[in-house]
Amino acid sequence: MSQLRNFRIEDNKSLLGAIIKPRESNVPAHLFWDPILSDGVEVKCTLHHSQLTRLGRWTSASGRNTVRQLWHVGRNCLLISGLYLCKKCGHDSLHLAHDGKILQQLPSSVEVPFETFHKSGATKEIIDLIVGGIKNGEYCL
Ligand SMILES: [Zn+2]
Repeated sequence: MSQLRNFRIEDNKSLLGAIIKPRESNVPAHLFWDPILSDGVEVKCTLHHSQLTRLGRWTSASGRNTVRQLWHVGRNCLLISGLYLCKKCGHDSLHLAHDGKILQQLPSSVEVPFETFHKSGATKEIIDLIVGGIKNGEYCL
C-alpha cells in the first residue's frame, strides 16, 4: 500500500514537481514519556537490579538531563522523559525513561512510539513511512 496516502499534494499539482506535505499527525509537538506513570510498569536499574522510582521531574531544556529531539513527519517533536531514581546510584546518576535499557524492560503491552539512537531519535510514524516507502520503491536514497 502506498505510503503517499499520508501526504497531500499542494494545489492539486501532479506528483512530479508538486509540493507534498504531510497530513495531520497524531503525534504532538511535545511527547511526554513516563511508562511508570502512564502504564504502572516496574523497571529496574540495570547496574544494581533494584527497582527505579519516579523522581517526579522531567528532562528539561538545559542541564545534564535534557529533552531529546525526535525526527517526525513534517516537523520534529520534543521527547520529554520522566527521570527515575535508583537509591544505590543516587541523584547524580538519574535514569531517563527513554533510555534503551529501560525500554527493553517494558512489556509488549506498552507501545513505544519512538526509537532513540546515540544522540537522536525518530517517531515510529516517520520510521514506518521511510521503511514502507523504500520497500514499495517510492523513495530513492
Ligand atoms: Zn542503580
